[in-house]
Amino acid sequence: MEHLDIKILIVDDEEIILTLFKSALETWGYQADIAEDGQKALQKCSEGDYQILITDLNMPNMDGMSLLKRVKARWPMIEIIVVTGFGTIETAIDAMKMGASDFILKPVNFEQVQFTLKKCCQKIRADHENQALRESIAQLRELNAMKDKFLAITSHEIRTPLTIIKGYLEILEMSLEDQNQEVQETLDILLRTTRQLSETLNRVHTLQWANRSGWQTRSEPINLNAFLQAVQQDMGRLFQHRQILFSVQLPETPVWIHGNHNGLRIIIQELLHNALKFTPNHGRVGITVKNSNGDVEISVFDSGIGIPFEEKELIFTEFYEVQNPLHHKTSKEDFMGGGMGIGLSLVKEMVTSLGGRIDLESEPGAGSTFKIFLKKAVMSKSVAV
Ligand code: ADP
Repeated sequence: MEHLDIKILIVDDEEIILTLFKSALETWGYQADIAEDGQKALQKCSEGDYQILITDLNMPNMDGMSLLKRVKARWPMIEIIVVTGFGTIETAIDAMKMGASDFILKPVNFEQVQFTLKKCCQKIRADHENQALRESIAQLRELNAMKDKFLAITSHEIRTPLTIIKGYLEILEMSLEDQNQEVQETLDILLRTTRQLSETLNRVHTLQWANRSGWQTRSEPINLNAFLQAVQQDMGRLFQHRQILFSVQLPETPVWIHGNHNGLRIIIQELLHNALKFTPNHGRVGITVKNSNGDVEISVFDSGIGIPFEEKELIFTEFYEVQNPLHHKTSKEDFMGGGMGIGLSLVKEMVTSLGGRIDLESEPGAGSTFKIFLKKAVMSKSVAV
């Protein structure tokens, strides 16, 4: 009884054939109806939702070919199988050219009928699945466009008033002299929270921008050694605050890449912020730079909680987080501090735009290493000092 959902209409002017077909089809688990001629078949097609029509070619009044043409014109999704004798096999081939799915030869061999129907059902199921997939893709595209629009509008609509709030809070803080401790603390909290919100919106905005237009408009030579030493200075304080040992290991000769300072800064900062977030106090975080076969390999490693194997691809997806986001603490520096699942998608987008790639090695409980491979820039001696 595996074909309960498939409804078949059999059309033939011979009653005995109709009876034989109907009982065989029902035995195999199909729903079967009969029609004695083409007109009745058309009538039934307009009333019932048949997936398959089996028709004799040789019938008085309306022959099988005329029926085939009319059915295909009105209900193109119905699969048609024609029944024909050896003498009229060419007509069967013509029928296939006009849209019939298959043909059955007379005298009818019911094993062949069963096989032909099985094939036809497989095709119907595959068509349905394809159709469902196409619809899902269209729906996903629409949702994605809606998400982009929503993010673009909200980030714009929130950013403007937020900038005003932040500006006035800063003025208030400067102009309120001799404020008592409670007022000072309240202002501090307001300012800190406003800055956090503003930073989150900026990251959403950057991701939108990176997705839409490609961020790398201008490429320039970057001295990685100098760049990473500056990062070490800028971010060192955050690691000290959490008693995390932070190291940067660079080759003696400066390494150069072609890129965009802003993009590279976002890549390294996002990876370091994650390392900071997912490494408990007293752990280790570091950056190493190596030359590898004409590429530059930048590794950002940590001794933190690690990432389960099955999450390795998913974490680069926008707004994806391994842990339940509702359990987050809302801070970028705290252990397991909050986020929106934006950082790594930004990193991947930017590394790809630089013509590079990113790999992840990680073991839950033992830490993670994000490896970025970028093309090395060949610098003339006068520049590479
Ligand atoms: P967010 O913007 O919230 O920081 P990311 O896209 O940067 O999100 O990271 C997605 C998820 O990947 C994080 O929520 C975290 O679960 C996991 N993850 C990223 N980096 C690390 C890391 N160094 N160690 C452990 N987990 C990490």
